[in-house]
Amino acid sequence: MSRTQDIIDMDTEFGAHNYHPLPVVLSRSEGPWVWDVEGNRYLDCLSAYSAVNQGHRHPHIVKAMKEQVDKLDLTSRAFHNDIMGQFLKRLCVYCGYEVALPMNTGAEAVETGIKLARKWGYQKKGIPRDQAEIIVCSGNFHGRTTTIVGFSTDPDACEGYGPRTPGFRIINYDDIDALKEAITPNTAAFLVEPVQGEAGVKVPSEGYLREIRRICTENNVLLVLDEIQTGFCRTGKRFCFMHEDARPDVLLVGKALGGGLYPVSAALADKDKMEVFTPGTHGSTFGGNPIGAAVAIAALEVLENERLDERAQELGEYFLLGLEKMGSDKVKEIRGKGLLIAVELKKEAGPARTYLEKMRGMGILAKDTHVQTIRFAPPLVVTKEEIDWVISIISQALE
Ligand SMILES: *Cc1c(COP(=O)(O)O)cnc(C)c1O
Repeated sequence: MSRTQDIIDMDTEFGAHNYHPLPVVLSRSEGPWVWDVEGNRYLDCLSAYSAVNQGHRHPHIVKAMKEQVDKLDLTSRAFHNDIMGQFLKRLCVYCGYEVALPMNTGAEAVETGIKLARKWGYQKKGIPRDQAEIIVCSGNFHGRTTTIVGFSTDPDACEGYGPRTPGFRIINYDDIDALKEAITPNTAAFLVEPVQGEAGVKVPSEGYLREIRRICTENNVLLVLDEIQTGFCRTGKRFCFMHEDARPDVLLVGKALGGGLYPVSAALADKDKMEVFTPGTHGSTFGGNPIGAAVAIAALEVLENERLDERAQELGEYFLLGLEKMGSDKVKEIRGKGLLIAVELKKEAGPARTYLEKMRGMGILAKDTHVQTIRFAPPLVVTKEEIDWVISIISQALE
């Protein structure tokens, strides 16, 4: 029995079967590269769903984490600690908001956005008690809590977890008229992803973000953007909304804020909205903890110092062009923004997983979404030469 199989067997025996990973066991990482227990090297084209934008084990972030571990651990929010404020200030400046509320996972940031929107709806907009509605989109992915999967349209995510939390209305993504029609006097917010990552990198029509911003403003509805996957330079700007000047009222961030080392998330807004939260009305034991704060400060510094926004923009265009030049007859559509790219295969090409297995044999790790689509989202520190190499492997795998 191989070492790989032994480890997989142990996972299978003792772990709940809520995932179906590729049969590769990783034990080391650096930059855009990961190694398995057999010593094989792979280029990571998933980046833990964009949580590793800065590259694996970035030395600057590792150093910050190690230094913090030697100074102060968990304080909880019952006391102040000497680093959370610096983290929140840095995050607010980076994102362009007055205030941030720190949490840990993306789902918690989304829950924070939902709670903020409802409370704002009652206190500021005057929606009658318990009548607030939040509009969301079909194909959404916002996390795994009971409330969040209650407005999912993916049967795997939501079946068997009812009853669904009331107060959500689902409309088609990338459909302006649907949004206009769904808004009522009780609508508190529109919660949406600027590109639907988990749905298979669905990039909305040009002007969509600008238009939803305008409609929300016109109707006194909060625009809540989930940039947990698209944020922190992934799509070629700091945030995807910046492509169309569609600054949301509430910005939800996570994933790469933790630099691949630690779960850190946040909801950001200006004071006139965030002030609906008062002491005791929302919180988290680990939110804003010193280790997470130190890691996040360093993670933001790397994004800025290494200009990863410009890099993602340039390399994303280069990657897309290379894929288009490939001209494979198995490909139905190639789409993307920055370094968030998807190759959708034709039905007759068979499931994407077959090609992923082939690519794995040639040194690339990527992930399928919805059977027919392969997502490519390497760490933003990847080089042009590495992208050339990835494209050559993709075209070989598709031959
Ligand atoms: C990953 C993701 C989440 C959930 O984040 P977790 O840290 O897994 O809870 C929410 N929204 C989007 C768009 C995501 O990609």
